[in-house]
Amino acid sequence: MTIAPLLRRTTDHALDYLASLDDRLIAPTASLAELRATFVKPLPETGIPADQVIDALVNDVETGLLGSTSGRFFGWVIGGSLPAALAADWLTTIWDQNAAIYACGPAEAVVEEVCGQWLKQLLGIPASASFALVTGCQMAHATTLAAARHKLLADRGWDVETNGLAGSTPLRVLTSERRHESLIRAVKFLGIGEAAIEFVGCEADGQMRMTDLAATLQNAADTPTIVCLQAGDIHTGGFDPFPEACDIAHSHSAWVHIDGAFGLWVASSNRLRHLLSGAEQADSWVTDGHKWLNVPFDSGFAFVAHPAAHRAAMSQSASYRISVGDARDQLDWTPEWSRRGRGFPAYAAIKSLGRTGIAQLVEQCCDHAHRLVTEISTLPGTELVVTPKINQGLVRFLSPDGDHDRRTDRIIEAIQAKGIAWFGGTTWQNKRVMRVSVCNWRTTDRDVDRAIASVREVLAEIS
Ligand SMILES: *Cc1c(COP(=O)(O)O)cnc(C)c1O
Repeated sequence: MTIAPLLRRTTDHALDYLASLDDRLIAPTASLAELRATFVKPLPETGIPADQVIDALVNDVETGLLGSTSGRFFGWVIGGSLPAALAADWLTTIWDQNAAIYACGPAEAVVEEVCGQWLKQLLGIPASASFALVTGCQMAHATTLAAARHKLLADRGWDVETNGLAGSTPLRVLTSERRHESLIRAVKFLGIGEAAIEFVGCEADGQMRMTDLAATLQNAADTPTIVCLQAGDIHTGGFDPFPEACDIAHSHSAWVHIDGAFGLWVASSNRLRHLLSGAEQADSWVTDGHKWLNVPFDSGFAFVAHPAAHRAAMSQSASYRISVGDARDQLDWTPEWSRRGRGFPAYAAIKSLGRTGIAQLVEQCCDHAHRLVTEISTLPGTELVVTPKINQGLVRFLSPDGDHDRRTDRIIEAIQAKGIAWFGGTTWQNKRVMRVSVCNWRTTDRDVDRAIASVREVLAEIS
């Protein structure tokens, strides 16, 4: 089969899948053993025609797909794909630019420049900040914290890119129980080491306690320090007190980093923007495109208030690089060399919604999360744990025998197995809880109704 019929056929497969979203079960139905039985075959010695490969793939994955793109998927923090972003993502594959440098894909490089400018305006980040489009928040942490590592050590006369960390003043990282584990991993990647992390105490509502932050900074005042704050934590959607934290940290010459993987997007909303007050004073920010902006996966954004430090941490010369005028070469700012033209889907997403559309998407998700949590909490044997401030909230299920953790896990499992809605379990303040996260543009009032009805049914079935 030649390429044109193959792609038309693939489009039909894609449309069939999307059309099935409303009715298909969200949880996969195949077991691990069944999936292995389907896929694990000897290495093929000879090939088969492309249409047969695609038809078989579509058939074989069917029972092993998690319906995370459905409007009734409320697990982890997972967005869907906006139509414009999805279509641009297809074309990104077709154009197949190597978005490492301008010369390898001029239009894509300029689209990334535009994304950087637009994103800073949308997210309330100073226009003078540098940026990078990376794979996700994990690599955005690695990129921005490499810039922090550079600057904090350069300020003390140490060139970390040349000399490495051995022999330098040890760095210190302060964060709170709210941090996402990807932050810890970035600290490991960068050779700073997990042992350099100190946890600052929190208030009852989970906000970093400012008296503790000040005391901890005072404690080793000469140590180069990165303070990592949270804009939207994964359990409660909570925000650290940025104006105070930035003042305290900066008075100790510390670097302030904000993880706003999804929370930074409230900057688009007049109703919610106040939660980010003071965040513009930070030294670095990270967020995702593939969560709340609803760009397909492989979309994260890194921003640094000190462009020279950012560039020094990432840039690498190569004899075969071609520089064109004042074009922005992405590899001066990103940790990758060859890379996908991930500017196109992000650009398409922003262009299709505009600032008001993004604000509406954010507010609509928050409203859905609020309804899910408050209405589920009115069902018998259910307890409201955290009312969503934004799009994340917690509930749990109470057992007459007092083992609420066990019952909560059982109910979550049964909801997942029913396949109508999908919520995940987690541990918060030593309790098992069910987390409600709404990040998908596709979720409607009807999805929320169906999800609540499904929880009600499960509760009636499992006494
Ligand atoms: C998802 C998430 C991350 C990790 O981002 P990836 O895009 O998965 O790399 C980091 N921090 C927070 C708060 C998150 O929700």
